[in-house]
Amino acid sequence: MTSETIKDLTQSYIMGTYGRFPVAVDRGEGARLYDPEGREYIDFTSGIGVTALGYGNQPWAEAVAEQAKKLVHVSNLFYTETPARLAEILCKRTGESCVFFANGGGEANEGMIKLARKYSFDKYGQGRSTIITLKNSFHGRTITTLKATGQDVFHNFFFPFTEGFRYAAANDLEDLKAQAGDDVCAVMLELVQGEGGVLPLDQDYVRAVEALCAEQDWLLLADEVQTGVGRTGALFAFQHYGILPDVVSFAKGIAGGLPMSGILANEKCRNVLGPGTHATTFGGNPVCAAAGLAVQEVLSDEFLKEVQEKGDYLRKGIEALDLPCFGKTRGLGLMIGIEVKEGWTNRDIANQLIENGLLILTAGPGMRLLPPLVITKEEMDKGLSIMAETLR
Ligand SMILES: *Cc1c(COP(=O)(O)O)cnc(C)c1O
Repeated sequence: MTSETIKDLTQSYIMGTYGRFPVAVDRGEGARLYDPEGREYIDFTSGIGVTALGYGNQPWAEAVAEQAKKLVHVSNLFYTETPARLAEILCKRTGESCVFFANGGGEANEGMIKLARKYSFDKYGQGRSTIITLKNSFHGRTITTLKATGQDVFHNFFFPFTEGFRYAAANDLEDLKAQAGDDVCAVMLELVQGEGGVLPLDQDYVRAVEALCAEQDWLLLADEVQTGVGRTGALFAFQHYGILPDVVSFAKGIAGGLPMSGILANEKCRNVLGPGTHATTFGGNPVCAAAGLAVQEVLSDEFLKEVQEKGDYLRKGIEALDLPCFGKTRGLGLMIGIEVKEGWTNRDIANQLIENGLLILTAGPGMRLLPPLVITKEEMDKGLSIMAETLR
């Protein structure tokens, strides 16, 4: 099929919920994608932080194929090997105690919210169900996670939303304290706000939030759907901050491209969601878990160090171009934001870059880069030279 046919078919039969860029993608290799006509694109998006190992990764594909041939799904009424092994690795590498597997980021956050409310219900009874989240956050598209998201634009159309969320300004401990009360059970945050514009939280702030949570017996919930699984140069971003959240959600990169998510919980929270309180049919699917194991095989501590170095290289490279439309860069590892100066809009810049062979994301008012973690220096250089030629 040609690009035009694919676009026409999509527009005719798929609901128009997405503002798509005018590119059809047919196949990929490493951090390069190709349209059906063979045109090459350098990928600084990895499917919004999902394809950590890039495209056409052979060991990953073989692990998926082998598991698919052996056993695709039997439900959580039975025991299977790959999710158990993946959970063990995640716990041992983070210091958390146990995992619940789900299928997408919003769904994982729903589980995290349920866990926090039940923890409090079990201990204190009804009435302690409010979760404080941060302004400018993003937590998902379900009715509850839309309301957890601290941006008014998401609190529209779909009334009534789930009750029990209040919002505090990021990096402002006094504002968090001002939202406190007898009704609070948890604080939920992204350590680097992703959709909000790649905004890392301050170390001191995060440590103070952890201390405040411990003092109040509020659970500290980290939404690591975007920052998790190596993206920031640590397996989870909380490891950069020297904290151990009570519950951590993950999704996007966990299985390198297959739909999988989950939450990690510490010992204190192990038994909160007992039999019958939470479930999902597909969660911990053996094929997705085999893919997750293949991702973990690659994400050694050495590899994570390289992710840091690549992030530094890319950020320095962008700043060295000194482009008229770009201000400062920020971020952690290969999660990079670029400020867009007044007079330019991020969507226009993205369109121009894509037209010239570089796929890139926007976030908040700026640009966002989430390249595959396996991106090579040569691929980064190619992307930088497209930026220079397009935007100079
Ligand atoms: C992408 C994202 C979500 C939502 O994940 P879905 O898989 O789209 O449901 C939630 N939180 C954060 C921080 C995200 O980046």
